[in-house]
Amino acid sequence: MVEIILKKGKEKAALQRHPWVFSGALEKVKGKPEDGDVVKVFAFDNEFLAYGYFNSNSRVAVRLLEWDETQTIDKNWYQNRLQQAIASRQFILSEDTNTCRLVFSEADFLPGLIVDKYANFLSLQILSSGIEKVKADIVDIIKAELNPIGIFDKSDATARGHEGLPIENGLLWGENPPEFLEVKENGIAYNINIADGQKSGFYCDQRDNRKILASYTKGKKVLDCFSYSGGFSLNALANGAANVTSVDSSALALETLKQNIALNKFDAEKVTSIQSDVNKQLRAFKETGELFDVIVLDPPKYAPSRSALDRAARAYKDLNRLGMLLLEKGGLLATFSCSGAVDIETFKQIIAWAALDAGREVQIIKQFCQPEDHPVRISFSEGEYLKGLLLRVL
Ligand code: SAH
Repeated sequence: MVEIILKKGKEKAALQRHPWVFSGALEKVKGKPEDGDVVKVFAFDNEFLAYGYFNSNSRVAVRLLEWDETQTIDKNWYQNRLQQAIASRQFILSEDTNTCRLVFSEADFLPGLIVDKYANFLSLQILSSGIEKVKADIVDIIKAELNPIGIFDKSDATARGHEGLPIENGLLWGENPPEFLEVKENGIAYNINIADGQKSGFYCDQRDNRKILASYTKGKKVLDCFSYSGGFSLNALANGAANVTSVDSSALALETLKQNIALNKFDAEKVTSIQSDVNKQLRAFKETGELFDVIVLDPPKYAPSRSALDRAARAYKDLNRLGMLLLEKGGLLATFSCSGAVDIETFKQIIAWAALDAGREVQIIKQFCQPEDHPVRISFSEGEYLKGLLLRVL
């Protein structure tokens, strides 16, 4: 196994169990590892630090996965890690919920592997060359552990690009999922399209927050912005919302929402869906003077990296300012950021600016976070990406 020595003083992050070693921290690579090979990483003074996946293309030259030198990274090791991750999700799955994330990359000590369960199908994202190398073993193990009907590869192209991996999107094993696969979350049915849908098909990270928000929507007039297939809209309807307006720019998302309303036998008359850019639509509501009791703002990731933070902060501020202006006095704004680069304190600051600009007094009445199937390793704060605030806007 190739050994890598770090520069003097560069061992600190690894000692603190942070899983990334940046290329600038490498002093010496003893040999010629291939991308994705497991290497042994040592401090400058030759102290063993951890095993990790090597990659020559990425800024993260080594992704650490095991800090115990006595372990062997073989099929058995992967089986243990996968069993552990899967077992920790079992209490999420029930008659009411048959979709969740089973493996969440670094947080489950498998850097670059995401496994999402959609009823009896599994959707994988393989985002590191290390995982790519052992893909066949991983498929073998999860087949045996979970007995799925089919395993699909829905890897994100950008992340694979960083590791020098080609784009993949297709069946890995078993049967192809139907074009629209029915899953259940919080007792609500959703049609999801694994092959053409966004992310790995569904945003299961908002499961808890949808339920929490719904408890405030009985009899209310709700505006669900960036609705996708209707996660927040459907939970609000299930909880007796008077009516819901769902806005998304994607035609497929709104088509799926329509199917989901029928699937759950909700009253379609209560739902208005608008295919539009959210900012444009919010401005249009402002023009006509239409107000809402509850507004959800769940935009895509505005800050893909720290360098995009300034621009993202302006976009979040503008969006939230507009949202606040469309609320009845005492109305609720559920506002989210799924940018890892924006931490909760920064997000609160942005919201404070938005409130000042909107000329509205705002109280935080709850904080939202990512659910337990998206755990955050205490040594890896980068994994904490989803945050939100429930605000009362006076
Ligand atoms: N709230 C959703 C998830 C939102 S994901 C849920 O609970 O499932 C973000 C959504 O924003 C995607 O559906 C995407 O199509 C949409 N989107 C991205 N940019 C947009 C824009 N400028 N205007 C409207 N929708 C947009």
